[in-house]
Amino acid sequence: MNTKKILIIEDEPNIRELVLYNLKTNGYDCISAEDGIMGITMVHKEKPDLILLDIMLPGKNGFEICEELREEGNNTPIIMMTAKTEEADKVMGLDCGADDYISKPFGIREMLARIKAVLRRYDINTPLDEVKSQDKDTIITAGELSINVERHEVTVGSRSVDLTLREFELLQYLMENRGHVFSRDQLLNNIWGIDYAGETRTVDVHIRHLRQKLSGDDGEDKYIETIRGKGYKVK
Ligand code: CA
Repeated sequence: MNTKKILIIEDEPNIRELVLYNLKTNGYDCISAEDGIMGITMVHKEKPDLILLDIMLPGKNGFEICEELREEGNNTPIIMMTAKTEEADKVMGLDCGADDYISKPFGIREMLARIKAVLRRYDINTPLDEVKSQDKDTIITAGELSINVERHEVTVGSRSVDLTLREFELLQYLMENRGHVFSRDQLLNNIWGIDYAGETRTVDVHIRHLRQKLSGDDGEDKYIETIRGKGYKVK
């Protein structure tokens, strides 16, 4: 098994050192940055498998970092570390594209569990090191839209589409159940999990992002349909 590299971006030395120490003793390759600018540079240079991201940071805050990475097409899993309820609320809206969050102060066991869960979800959707034969891959299509479940690849016609992990999971779920209408609550339970304390607008935000990414030059998304008062489905 290859060692996962985790980047922690955190300006408080005590928390940074504690997390670094515990990740290392648990077998992770771990690096850190103490401000937002350095954080972004390290993401580019070190290509971590996961980022633990503080919100209040000098240079650039956690939301800005998250948005910037997603805008440039970087889909590295991100767990935000929130210190205030308002921050957690904002992350739950996930406008910024984070995969999960943990509230400070958090226990080491909780942190490790969250990291494992996010990495596991991500691994299922990423290609393995050895090249898989194409015919073993699960391909789901709807018109010109095609997703490769094992390779975590999405294409519309010949154009490839970059999605975050959640967006991919959401699209995969809707496509696997094509034609079926799901309410926001059902999607929240099935994609984010029942223990997720998020709000249904989280689903709307992700659907909006998905639509933007799937729509062609004419700006029209042909795949996801809103059923008024009920929810969403893939046509
Ligand atoms: Ca901070």
